[in-house]
Amino acid sequence: MILGRRHVVGHVAVVDADRARGEHVARALRSAGHRVTVLVEGGRRILQAVVEQTPDILLISLGLSEPAVGGLVRSVRQALGDDLGVLVLVGREDPDTLVEADEMIKEPLDTGELTLRVTNILRAQAERRLLQRRVEQLLKLHKVTWAFSLAGGPRKLFGHLSRQCAEIVKARKGLVFLFDAERRQMQAQHEAWGFTLEQVDAARYNVDGEARSRWNFRKNGPLVSNNAQSDTRLLPEMATSLELGSVLAVPLTRGPKIDGVLLAADREGGGGFGDDDLNLLLAMAGQAGVAVENLRLHEELKRANDMLKEYDRLKSEFVAIVAHDFRRPLMGIRGFAELVLDEPALSEETRREFMRTVIAETDGLAALANDTLLITQIETGQLSFRWSEVDLGPFILQHSMPLGLAEHSILLDVPPHFPSIVADPDRLRQVLVNLIGNAVKYSPQGGAINIRCRERGDDHVVIEVVDHGLGIPKEHVASLFQKFSRVRSEEHMRIQGTGLGLYICRLIVEGHGGQIWVESEVGQGSTFGLVLPRDASAIVPASPGSYERAAVRPPRD
Ligand code: ADP
Repeated sequence: MILGRRHVVGHVAVVDADRARGEHVARALRSAGHRVTVLVEGGRRILQAVVEQTPDILLISLGLSEPAVGGLVRSVRQALGDDLGVLVLVGREDPDTLVEADEMIKEPLDTGELTLRVTNILRAQAERRLLQRRVEQLLKLHKVTWAFSLAGGPRKLFGHLSRQCAEIVKARKGLVFLFDAERRQMQAQHEAWGFTLEQVDAARYNVDGEARSRWNFRKNGPLVSNNAQSDTRLLPEMATSLELGSVLAVPLTRGPKIDGVLLAADREGGGGFGDDDLNLLLAMAGQAGVAVENLRLHEELKRANDMLKEYDRLKSEFVAIVAHDFRRPLMGIRGFAELVLDEPALSEETRREFMRTVIAETDGLAALANDTLLITQIETGQLSFRWSEVDLGPFILQHSMPLGLAEHSILLDVPPHFPSIVADPDRLRQVLVNLIGNAVKYSPQGGAINIRCRERGDDHVVIEVVDHGLGIPKEHVASLFQKFSRVRSEEHMRIQGTGLGLYICRLIVEGHGGQIWVESEVGQGSTFGLVLPRDASAIVPASPGSYERAAVRPPRD
């Protein structure tokens, strides 16, 4: 049956005992655009003949007795289904109530009335069929909705989605792409349906660049392509690597954003996809979008929960280590105080020496308390930076020179007209004092310490502190910027430290929107470097969640 905008045409089988009369009816219908087959009643083969024609309408013309009409209609409907339209032409004197017929026309035949009745039946039939299809689609979608709620974890969800995508439109393959905001890429998700693992791994594309000049889901909406290999709207490498024949692709939207794409490919039986398939996949994309969003929220919650657990563990560990680090100098202070109190015979010089140690240990404790407080403040987001302009050359000179000892010379290398930056001067001083202090501390044989500054691009500066001291074994480099991380070698452990300094440096540098790293060779020395934006106040500070990601490699220029 063909549905025009106004006119409906279909296939009508006319059954009559008289061929001439049958043909007369047929002519009227043909001139209205219908396809008509005339079958002459007269033998037992009439039923089979009608069934073979699979018409939309059975028109039984004059000359058949009522029981014969009823019998024929019932048998044909049994074979072709209740959807068959039945129209009966009756004599002027026949009763009005003829069972089994959808419509009835009385003699004498009016061709206008005939075509009107046929059109009515076809229209009703078309609406019924459309409704039926909708019901089937809804049933399928209902199954899909139910399946989504069963999904456990991303792989299972995408597996379900891909399979449902394929099944709902009778495709062999299904795939879900998700947008990766960091990479600005659409990335195919595991599990897919009908694709190999390698195909899914390789299926990704940048949303900028070439993809923009091809099919743009934001501008163009869903895509139907029944010859993907030669379709210029698709990225050719994608069509090739996924071996796509026919494709149906529908964006997964969240408000104005496109979160991903549902793709069904290669229609079973080789035919192409049509409007019905597209509507189905669109309806499914609505459901899938909700499921994907739920999954995202679920994963986010899980991550936040894991992070809280990890923070809790770190906090307990932190408290234990800090308690230990406090106890050791406290025991020393108490020991020296006892000696001074209980030993009246101590010389004045020894007494002064002991008291100096007590003061040094007390200062150490105060510094440890400050570090602990600072870490807690930064980690809990309570520390705000106070930005102001810093002229790096004089600034470094002012804070580094007092750190040089007799055995260490500090050499400063700042190019002329070096630009000033916007930073928190108190915190930046803390970073420099820590790095230069470490360079001095971990170069027990003495030697030069170089501080170098350079510009990187238009908007960053790099500061490096180079020493020629103990160096750091490779296996320790990765964890060096974490809390309480110390190199546990004999030489290092002889030098007093808490393992908090570099962690604090990292928090401060990242809080400035920068990065810190180290390059080192055991026995040769170390270079600690940091890159800072020229204007940290314009950069969003790193979130506390990113603190555990150590940046230990120098970023490329
Ligand atoms: P602390 O010096 O208080 O132990 P830091 O966090 O500043 O804590 O340093 C962590 C560890 O990194 C140190 O214990 C040391 O083993 C190593 N380290 C830091 N700076 C240097 C350096 N310039 N040369 C060699 N090792 C270093």
